[in-house]
Amino acid sequence: MDDDRGHEARMGNQTRPGRGRSPGEDHVNTLRIQGQSGPSDIAVGERIENLPAYLPAGVRTVIVTDTNVDRLHRHRFPSADVITIGTGEKIKTLESVAHIYRELIRLEADRFTFLVAIGGGLVCDVAGFAASTYMRGIPYGFVATSLLAQVDASVGGKNGVNFSGFKNMVGVFNQPRFVICDLSMLETLPLHEMTNGLAEIVKHAAIYDADYFADIEANVALIEKLDPAFIEALVHRSVVIKSRVVNRDEKEAGERRKLNFGHTFGHAIEKCTGLAHGEAVSIGMVVAGHFSRRTTGFSQHDLERLEKLLCRLGLPTELPAAPDEILQALGKDKKRQGGALHFVCLEAIGRSVVQPVTLTELATFLLKAHIIG
Ligand code: NAD
Repeated sequence: MDDDRGHEARMGNQTRPGRGRSPGEDHVNTLRIQGQSGPSDIAVGERIENLPAYLPAGVRTVIVTDTNVDRLHRHRFPSADVITIGTGEKIKTLESVAHIYRELIRLEADRFTFLVAIGGGLVCDVAGFAASTYMRGIPYGFVATSLLAQVDASVGGKNGVNFSGFKNMVGVFNQPRFVICDLSMLETLPLHEMTNGLAEIVKHAAIYDADYFADIEANVALIEKLDPAFIEALVHRSVVIKSRVVNRDEKEAGERRKLNFGHTFGHAIEKCTGLAHGEAVSIGMVVAGHFSRRTTGFSQHDLERLEKLLCRLGLPTELPAAPDEILQALGKDKKRQGGALHFVCLEAIGRSVVQPVTLTELATFLLKAHIIG
């Protein structure tokens, strides 16, 4: 008990180094990404009720959301036209983008219309792409409503949709003007969706921050209790890491690739099993951990810490599909350059490296490794 409180305090101190200015209440922590398309302010702890303060004065707003968020939170939206899309990875397509275009045309939205996406990672990806391309791009912002969107998907201006069996094959780099991470929205999020978001949090800690990883290990009980202060600290800490990386490498020419840790196998697993993004990334991180054991000197002890933490958080860690199915899906990874992939390995907990790896090397590893569930 004392331990938990100690760690909570430590976490709190670490994640609130100074307060950014924000239109909202005084506990809001605002971080800025300076993108090529302009600045993007991520307001952690902001409330959706303060959304109007983030919108340019006198400009028309159109909201895009999904059917679940619409049903649960419409009463908290500001007054505006609302375009609703469905749910599930299968609707992350150009057809959904076309639906938004058609609705924007029907609403007579022009180049100065401001689009706000209110939803999880899927709504952010689909609506962010639609806003970036409608009339060659209209300004937009996000209210991220799932844990996964708050810690990862809404931040960094990389938005796209799946195409022809390829995950996130069509997309843009274009920063949202703002991202609001309203922790109160998470109160209606199903537990398994909270768990999904935890996968990206573990990813951030595993690739960048050993202390963060240790704090999560020491505070699983607080996460299980959904302790609001601790969850907010996690969101803030992850946004600090992601925004720092994006500020250094917005277009993913180098360092930003590290954020794809677990995603090479994760995307393939997502595709051939239908597991949720976070669950698939969790397994992908374990597979990448095993691969790292062979290539970087990543220790057995650290690999066990990674697997154990994911398990304790309720995330899957074992390969759920036959290796040949996964390898077939892997062949469709758009991040391939020639025959090689940029594969993210761990050197230690908190330290990562990007290595060029061929599909053949990954295939040989997967078929020989004893990590099949
Ligand atoms: P999601 O948007 O599909 O949301 C998951 C479920 O939670 C949906 O059913 C949604 O309706 C529901 N939901 C969302 N907020 C809710 C709330 N407050 N209350 C109740 N229900 C709520 O999925 P996700 O996990 O948020 O995001 C996954 C997507 O994000 C994937 O498509 C993934 O590829 C993408 N992603 C993108 C990036 C990026 O940088 N662009 C990064 C990571 C993930």
